Parts: sequence; C-alpha cells; structure tokens
Amino acid sequence: MLRNDQLELWDRENFFHPSTHLAEFARGDAPQRVITGGSGVFIEDRDGTRLLDAFAGLYCVNVGYGRPEIAEAIAAQAKELAYYHAYVGHGTEASITLAKMILDRAPAGMSKVYFGLGGSDANETNVKLVWYYNNILGRPEKKKIISRWRGYHGSGLMTGSLTGLELFHKKFDLPLAQVIHTEAPYYFRRPDTAMSEADFTAYCVAELEALIASEGDETIAAFIGEPVLGTGGIVPPPEGYWAAIQEVLAKHDILLIADEVVTGFGRLGSMFGSEHYGLRPDIITIAKGLTSAYAPLSGSIVGDKVWQVLEQGTDELGPIGHGWTYSAHPIGAAAGVANLKLIDELGLVGNAGTVGAYLTAALRDRLAEHPKVGEIRGEGMLAAVEFVADRESRQFFDASEKIGAKVAAALLAEGVIGRAMPQGDILGFAPPLCLSEAEADQIADATAAAVKASLG
Ligand code: PMP
Repeated sequence: MLRNDQLELWDRENFFHPSTHLAEFARGDAPQRVITGGSGVFIEDRDGTRLLDAFAGLYCVNVGYGRPEIAEAIAAQAKELAYYHAYVGHGTEASITLAKMILDRAPAGMSKVYFGLGGSDANETNVKLVWYYNNILGRPEKKKIISRWRGYHGSGLMTGSLTGLELFHKKFDLPLAQVIHTEAPYYFRRPDTAMSEADFTAYCVAELEALIASEGDETIAAFIGEPVLGTGGIVPPPEGYWAAIQEVLAKHDILLIADEVVTGFGRLGSMFGSEHYGLRPDIITIAKGLTSAYAPLSGSIVGDKVWQVLEQGTDELGPIGHGWTYSAHPIGAAAGVANLKLIDELGLVGNAGTVGAYLTAALRDRLAEHPKVGEIRGEGMLAAVEFVADRESRQFFDASEKIGAKVAAALLAEGVIGRAMPQGDILGFAPPLCLSEAEADQIADATAAAVKASLG
C-alpha cells in the first residue's frame, strides 16, 4: 500500500479534480481526503476517520454504502458479459428488465426509457429529443428552453447553460443562446417579505408569463425544473407552484421536463417527485438513485406524447442519430435492477418520508431559535439550514465571509458531512434513504454544535 504522503503528492501533481479550487489544491492549501470504505450511512478515510455522510456522496448513495446485493449483481454481470452495446436493437437481460422496472414505477403516461451515464448527458439527450420533436412537427423555430435561476441540470455546454448558478456560467461563455431563465421558486428569498406563499407563486407565474410573452411562445420548446430545487439551495416550492406553472405551460404548448436526478426513486418519500407534487411531465430525467451510484447510469423517461412523434420521425428519416457507446451499459443496468429491488425490500421510500421529516424536525428543535438561522426547510430526505446576518431584516452575509463553508467545516470536525451549497450560506443535507432516527439525531446534534462553534 502506498504511503499517505506519496499518495497526496501524486494527487496534487496529477489529478484534475472537478469543482475544486485548482490553485489552492496544487499548492497543498485545500483538503485532500482519500476515501477507503463505507457502510450504511458512514464512510471511512485512509486515516481511519469515520464520518456520517449526511449528503449520500452527492445525493446519490440512496441505499447506503456497502450493500453486498448490488456488489454481487455487478460482479455477476461483469463475469457473464461486461459489455455489449445497445445500438440497433441490442440489449441484455439487465437493461431490458431495468427499463420495465422503471416504467412500472414511473408516473402515468410514460412510454420508454433511454439510458445514459449521468444526469448531465441525460439532460443533453432531453434537449435533443425536444428539438427533434419540434422539427418533426414542422416547428423549427420552437427551440428555446426555459430553466429557473438556481436550477441545476448538469455542467455540459447545454446543461451548464440550463443550470442557473453563476459559478457554472462564469468564464465558460455560458449560457448558450437557446436557454432562458426565469424566477427561482424560493420563498425565503421572495422580493417582498410581505408576500404570502400564494402571492409569491402568483409572482413566479407572472414572471414566467412575461418571459413567454417577450420571447414568443412559438420560439419556446420546453420548461425544465427539479420538483425541489437541489444544488440551488434545497428549496421546496411554494404552495400551488407546480399546478400553476403547468397551467401556463399547457396554454402555450410548452413541454415539461421534470429533472428527477435527485428526487427520483424515493428521496421525497414518494417514488417520484412528479407524483409528490402532481406533475405531469413529458420527459423525466433520472440518474443518481437509479443505481444508488454503485455504477454510473442515467435515463430519460419519455412520455407517450413525445414518443409518438419520435417514432414518426424515424419513419421519415431513418434511425435516430443519437446514442452513446455506454448507453444501457450492462454493469450499470445490473446495478440498477439490484438497487430498485433493494429499495422495495427495505421500504426505503417510506423511510425517506418518515425519517426525513424527523430530521427536519430535529434540526428545527436544535436551531430554530438561533439568531443567525434564517430558515430551516425540508421535504422528504432533503433538508437545509440557511444562515443570515440578521434575522429580522433578513439580511444575508457577505459572500466573502464564506459562512456556509465555515459551518460545513465545523460540522466535519463533528464527524458529519453536510454540504455548503454553492450560492448563499446554506448547509444542505441529503442523507442515504436508510437513515435511522438515531442517525438523524446525530446529524442535528452535530449541526447545532457546528453552528455554535462557528456563529456563537
Ligand atoms: N440534474 C440534477 C437535478 C442534479 O442534481 C445533477 C447533479 N447533481 C445533474 C442533473 C447532473 O448530473 P451529473 O452530475 O450526473 O451529470
């Protein structure tokens, strides 16, 4: 085994880490952590430090670490057939079974599953499908995609454009021209504190209507949104939001893409966020919880309405010109089949609802009165604590103070991993869906200690 100092040196010299301060890392001024193992909601690093991972990696290890059922399914698939492609009608028992299992669990009106590797490429696929759809329907002008500020949909060229966070645009020449952004459904940051939730929903709807009017609905193909804003701050929508938004989209013949990369397969305490909030999407993006990240796999669940047009398109044009080498990779598919079985067997969708609510309540119990805590919010197994400089006037901290990052670092010192969300002083939680109440208490106690240590 390599010595730690050797590994750290090689790491600094050779490894281009994503979403990392490259200069600080190269200088040795940024944290380096080599993870070696995991079990349940805990991970362990090379120094033997055991941490409660209250973010499930990146909201993805939904069944928890170290599940032998999935590891064995992966090994069996790799021995039998590690790879064959899915082009021109090829498949494996795992990929065909998984497509059926997904559709058996999906909301009504869904027709087929296209498989990719991760959330970003799945959303790239979705935009292409929507463009193809409108071209086949003879509406070549209807191409723009509406996304929300603070939405997160990936970090490719198109998907980084859809993502409504500054950091993902700055100096990358994004967003691309076909992408337009509308108001984030973020009640805590409403423009006027006198607004009720219903007022704020009406405001978001009016903003959307105004955007559609100024661009022309004949130029707009689709609206993409996460049922609950994730990386933008872990923000459940205000009352009535989705019903009102869907009315507008239907009126203007704009498709709805529900990005369920985080919310799919149980995180909100329902199998899909779409069913949780009454969404009737035309396309659903899935990834993360599809395999609990035991192997990379994503998907686009295509609804009947879009599917009919795609079929028509290939009758006119021949095979659809879209596919990845690793679409429906057998090892990812085998992991997906084992993972979805495990979610059912362990009752994790129900657990996400009950223990998730317990976690949010525990955070409120420990922190609701703290003068620097502006809001504690949650839905299912997602929760967030937002910090403010002044509660009464809802004044935010200056970004340069890096309060969110400081609290997250203090929380790590308490043995718990939370995530400082990238925009605003927000500490986010998205634990594995198998979290117990005792572990939720551990998260809440550690968070209270971390807040006390960093904010008094
Ligand atoms: N959509 C959502 C809602 C996400 O949260 C993410 C990743 N955090 C993505 C898409 C992109 O997925 P990936 O990082 O696998 O490309």
